[in-house]
Amino acid sequence: MKVLRTPIVAVLGHVDHGKTTLLDRIRRSNVTAREAGGITQHIGATEIPLSAIKEICKDIWNVNVVIPGLLFIDTPGHKAFTNLRRRGGALADLAILIVDINEGFKPQTEEALMILKTFKTPFIVAANKIDKIPGWQSNEGMPFMKSYAMQDEVVRQRLDNRIYELIGELYQRGFSADRFDRIRDFTRNVAIVPISALTGEGIPELLMLLVGLAQRYLEKSLRLHVEGKARGTVLEVKEEKGLGLTFDAILYDGTLRVGDRIAIGGVEGVIVTHVRGILRPRPAKEMRLESRFKSVESVTAAAGIKVVAPDIEGVLAGSEFEVVESDEDIKAFEQRIKQEYQEIAIETDEE
Ligand code: GDP
Repeated sequence: MKVLRTPIVAVLGHVDHGKTTLLDRIRRSNVTAREAGGITQHIGATEIPLSAIKEICKDIWNVNVVIPGLLFIDTPGHKAFTNLRRRGGALADLAILIVDINEGFKPQTEEALMILKTFKTPFIVAANKIDKIPGWQSNEGMPFMKSYAMQDEVVRQRLDNRIYELIGELYQRGFSADRFDRIRDFTRNVAIVPISALTGEGIPELLMLLVGLAQRYLEKSLRLHVEGKARGTVLEVKEEKGLGLTFDAILYDGTLRVGDRIAIGGVEGVIVTHVRGILRPRPAKEMRLESRFKSVESVTAAAGIKVVAPDIEGVLAGSEFEVVESDEDIKAFEQRIKQEYQEIAIETDEE
């Protein structure tokens, strides 16, 4: 049987609409969920294993999935995300587009939506901050449907009106959307899940729909098997004390090993170097050890890692890299990068 890799999820949306709060909330979860399977901190990402997701969704769990969990990219702003491409698309397999339900669409919501459209990234809309709807009575961590049923009729009406406005905004931009509980075909319609990143309401449904969506796309187009060459996208180039220049990256395919020769595509052309070290964050309980990182010999996709490599001065956030074994590999990589940058430029122009 093929080994399925963890789908990569990005959270996008207008500034202050709640991206950071949502990621924090999912990361912190409740203790049982954490103990259920160990939420793992990566470099620039957080991995939520399926067992922890099931624990968060336990009241409503009704899907049968085979993915190992979800890897959330911690990218704070979507600006960086525009560069975070990977072979033939966006870095993320799936996305959450977060919108403050009380504010509706804003310029960066719009931009994020266009990025998702360009890359054909499946996404769910999280209509955030429902706890701020006048009269809303919060129920910590509760599924949305349950909390909604407990609200006054007038409050439910307020929420519904805002959801209709969101449906309208999405419709104007070519998306057929609806509140998630009214959707049958999740590959044709965009689901809107009302949530509160602050109280955790609606997060069970949001996570369950994400894994459901991953599962559906997995049967179709998502390439989620751990196979082939190690490939990744650079998140950031950083100077680290005692290590020199390093880059943080999301490995989205294959297995990367210390000693591997890699090609990295930058604006100035392709850099060929080799992996001197692969670092992962140390678990919190080992933090007393002097380094924040621990060294590993190899890592398998999907993962957030720090790579130590010589000659990476010209590397930029958003650069692609892959393992190369021969000069032909390097040439092929160069060709591919060139072509992909052109294709993306054309697609973006057409918008
Ligand atoms: P980001 O810029 O998208 O990352 O937004 P933040 O997560 O930093 O949130 C911006 C502000 O909105 C912060 O003060 C949060 O505490 C607040 N906020 C985020 N989500 C919620 C929510 O669900 N309910 C309420 N009441 N406030 C929220």
